[in-house]
Amino acid sequence: MLAPALLRGSDTLEVKPNASQLIAALPEMNEPEVVLLLDSLMDCHSDTALRPLFAAIKLRVAELRSIKPEAVTGDFPAHHLYGSWDTRHLFAYPDSLYKADAQVLLSLGPFVAPVHGRITSGYGWRDSAMHRGIDIDLHRGDTVRAAFAGRVRFAARCGGYGNVVVVRHANGLETLYAHLWKISVKPGDELQAGAALGRGGSTGHSTGTHLHFELRFRGVAINPAWLLQLPELRLHESQVLLIRTREGFAVRPANCTHHTVQRGDSPYRIARRYGCTTAQLKSWNNWEKQPPLKAGQQVRIVAPGAQQQ
Ligand SMILES: [Zn+2]
Repeated sequence: MLAPALLRGSDTLEVKPNASQLIAALPEMNEPEVVLLLDSLMDCHSDTALRPLFAAIKLRVAELRSIKPEAVTGDFPAHHLYGSWDTRHLFAYPDSLYKADAQVLLSLGPFVAPVHGRITSGYGWRDSAMHRGIDIDLHRGDTVRAAFAGRVRFAARCGGYGNVVVVRHANGLETLYAHLWKISVKPGDELQAGAALGRGGSTGHSTGTHLHFELRFRGVAINPAWLLQLPELRLHESQVLLIRTREGFAVRPANCTHHTVQRGDSPYRIARRYGCTTAQLKSWNNWEKQPPLKAGQQVRIVAPGAQQQ
């Protein structure tokens, strides 16, 4: 493991990242650590003194991915995770893209709710089809905002999504905004969190005006409720671990924390949501046998690598 102090140093704006120290540490870093490092350097891309560091990161990424360094190119967010920038297709990612992601540490920058409104539909099975986002109620013409800072990858009309915008963020996450009445951005536009990207409506396969909002990592949809507190639309944590499961990604807090039991939760369901096993839940919570879960009860969740106590 990389000494966390090295990474922490660059979190604070006053402390300049120590390039030579980081270059020396790179060969020992695994991919999640390199991603975390890149995240922490997000604001330093124009710093010429850090060029050798970025060159070294590129070599390390190529090594970790077993690809030629020339293949790690492109001036777009999270190019180290995607290697491509497709502005013509809504989703252009092969399934194989995320298969190697056993565990990805994700830093989540400042978040702004895309719109404020009632959540009218959650993520999951609905009318025998998978609903891969959440629906937020709005009035036609309401401003829809970018949830995080990023660059517009896709902005066009596309099938059932109607007028849809996809924004790629530096950590590799993509956010999708569908059924827009009007789009006010184009591919390549840089957006700050909260920047207007269009106006809400009901285009495409939609009944009633609402925003269909999706979160994806390498093309794989993630339940927004796992990253965002609903219905308030606030971030749960500023750092989470994506853990690959058979269905896609589970989301675990990056530090040890608790899950508040909801009605209908079972140990199996909680384990699936956090990408762990029911046996792990049992040991983290010192359950002799699996207890009946009560709504509101706290269940301890331990992040990989976190101190058990
Ligand atoms: Zn929807």
